[in-house]
Amino acid sequence: MASHIVGYPRMGPKRELKFALESFWDGKSSAEDLEKVATDLRASIWKQMADAGIKYIPSNTFSYYDQVLDTTAMLGAVPERYSWTGGEIGFDTYFSMARGNATVPAMEMTKWFDTNYHFIVPELGPNTKFTYASHKAVNEYKEAKALGVDTVPVLVGPVSYLLLSKPAKGVEKGFPLLSLLSSILPVYKEVIAELKAAGASWIQFDEPTLVLDLDAQKLAAFSAAYTELESALSGLNVLVETYFADVPAESFKTLTSLSSVTAYGFDLVRGTQTLELVKSGFPAGKYLFAGVVDGRNIWADDLASSLSTLQSLEAIVGKDKLVVSTSCSLMHTAVDLVNETKLDSEIKSWLAFAAQKVVEVDALAKALAGQKDEAYFAANAAAQASRKSSPRVTNEEVQKAANALRGSDHRRATNVSARLDAQQKKLNLPVLPTTTIGSFPQTVELRRVRREYKAKKISEEEYITAIKEEISKVVKLQEELDIDVLVHGEPERNDMVEYFGEQLSGFAFTANGWVQSYGSRCVKPPIIYGDVSRPNPMTVFWSTTAQSMTSRPMKGMLTGPVTILNWSFVRNDQPRFETCYQIALAIKKEVEDLEAAGIQVIQIDEAALREGLPLRKAEHAFYLDWAVHSFRITNCEIKDTTQIHTHMCYSNFNDIIHSIINMDADVITIENSRSDEKLLSVFREGVKYGAGIGPGVYDIHSPRIPNTEEIADRINKMLAVLDTNILWVNPDCGLKTRKYTEVKPALTNMVSAAKLIRTQL
Ligand code: GLN
Ligand code: ZN
Repeated sequence: MASHIVGYPRMGPKRELKFALESFWDGKSSAEDLEKVATDLRASIWKQMADAGIKYIPSNTFSYYDQVLDTTAMLGAVPERYSWTGGEIGFDTYFSMARGNATVPAMEMTKWFDTNYHFIVPELGPNTKFTYASHKAVNEYKEAKALGVDTVPVLVGPVSYLLLSKPAKGVEKGFPLLSLLSSILPVYKEVIAELKAAGASWIQFDEPTLVLDLDAQKLAAFSAAYTELESALSGLNVLVETYFADVPAESFKTLTSLSSVTAYGFDLVRGTQTLELVKSGFPAGKYLFAGVVDGRNIWADDLASSLSTLQSLEAIVGKDKLVVSTSCSLMHTAVDLVNETKLDSEIKSWLAFAAQKVVEVDALAKALAGQKDEAYFAANAAAQASRKSSPRVTNEEVQKAANALRGSDHRRATNVSARLDAQQKKLNLPVLPTTTIGSFPQTVELRRVRREYKAKKISEEEYITAIKEEISKVVKLQEELDIDVLVHGEPERNDMVEYFGEQLSGFAFTANGWVQSYGSRCVKPPIIYGDVSRPNPMTVFWSTTAQSMTSRPMKGMLTGPVTILNWSFVRNDQPRFETCYQIALAIKKEVEDLEAAGIQVIQIDEAALREGLPLRKAEHAFYLDWAVHSFRITNCEIKDTTQIHTHMCYSNFNDIIHSIINMDADVITIENSRSDEKLLSVFREGVKYGAGIGPGVYDIHSPRIPNTEEIADRINKMLAVLDTNILWVNPDCGLKTRKYTEVKPALTNMVSAAKLIRTQL
């Protein structure tokens, strides 16, 4: 019985690649230094999988930046602006595409399906020339082989590559990207020929777009591509790997009828229908790579349950055709539990990071083959049982309260326009009120204070004094700038989710549980392991302290339940919505405590609400329903006179605008810096929007300081479609990553612009 791993994290157990990349980019180390770190990482990963007994070990899943960008390099599809002149693509051109350089901006980056990983979007058009320009896949195959490991080289499949790309600048929007299939396949053929010549006997094509809603034309492209590649592929075992959801029935039919393909990889964790599809018809003689071990989470697998799934599959596809695998690449989970020395042993026994998942896959394969490691399975069963029964996981009171929310609705009693009137009577704000999104620059000094407090190097008293001073500076600055609704600046927060997770019960934190987000950037999501409750107020002290420093309204600042959920590793023993409702109840308490403490404006950030949208349209409504409901729960019982704001980090919500309205916030501030047009078109099309709205008037992601005129211009554009009395003026996100030398002039100009337009109304 065989085992397989779809892909493995590249960063290294201690983010070695991150540091090597950043040092190279800063000119502090050479290309050879970087290559050495990368070579060592690859070698240790291959060795680890080989030692664990994995039969099908992937290669070319390493990347210096991104696997889609690697494919762009392989195809020589370098956009013209990088002035690449041919030959093998080196670091210069590669990193210029990824990060831009002094003269040319980077290529666009976007989310990889519903993960928190971001890939570099290929820019293609009718004039793109494709040539074989990066031999990385073949080189890595040979490198592993020289180490004695015969790997399965992995390529991003040709159809997914095209479906994930966009028309280059100057190319018409509707350009049929799939028409480039015949231009890229010759390069794929060259790569395949070289891999064969180097001794490869398997090849893996990642075609995750197969889990999306695809029309007949796109499906036809899959058939066409793999038919066209058939002779090139002959003599190879060909695995088409899908992940992140099940493959829809129609696509499943197309996929499983491809004669050049000999093996199919399916995500059996998120792909809830796949099992049924396989049962209802799987082609004879083909391999099934069964992704039973979850690559998207950090939980130890329930081995007994996986084993029984595998056994039922074995009965259908045959003993020698079933391969145990991961649900997707392990790059979406943390690297190695061994490095977690601070987690207690009980929680640790419930977890498995990438390194542990490799062992799980192998153990399952061996068990299927009749070599079950009884002790290992018994330890796993004991851990599963302890997780089920641990009082740390279950809080009956919370469960009862969360269950009671289901099926019923929660909204504020009064409608938004009446509430806004009541609030205005109290707040007495000018038209086009100005505000900011929450955070102010986080200086080196501030980070040091937090670090030292955490390490107990300074006392609580010293810490509080330092943070109070910082708040007081931020409050004074905002008063000087004449901003209308103030914030405290969030100096006590390292991260908008971690800060709350640390104070809620049911959360655990890792020391090294990093997951690649893009390039060298990694995130360390909290782990939600138990029922969530809020033992104590989390922000009331800081918000009331800040409010006491000014007579202007001070916004309380919270992270919303959906964002906390979407940016954490969540429980797999209950539905996501249930966890979300629990967090909503905890945040509700905080909202009510803030109100009781005299805070009149409370912002509940839902930066990541859109990120949680399921991959398939049919599932959107259900998600949006519970996500929006969770948000409403947090503030359903507060007074009309308390103003609830929310903030979102994207403006492309044309498709979910009705859900946004349904959140029923009094004011929403949103990112809008890169396209006024897209956002405004929603309102131009006649969507009725009665709540306050603050589309960001300048881009905080750039150090550039906008002048008064351009900000005024943008405000005027918005006034053309939105009522004067609902428009707010604010930057498009928090100011945490900016410097004061940028923030002060930018906000000065923002306030001037608002004042200028007020005089013209
Ligand atoms: N209130 C947060 C801040 O200002 C919001 C951050 C975000 O939207 N990502 O930093
Ligand atoms: Zn934001």
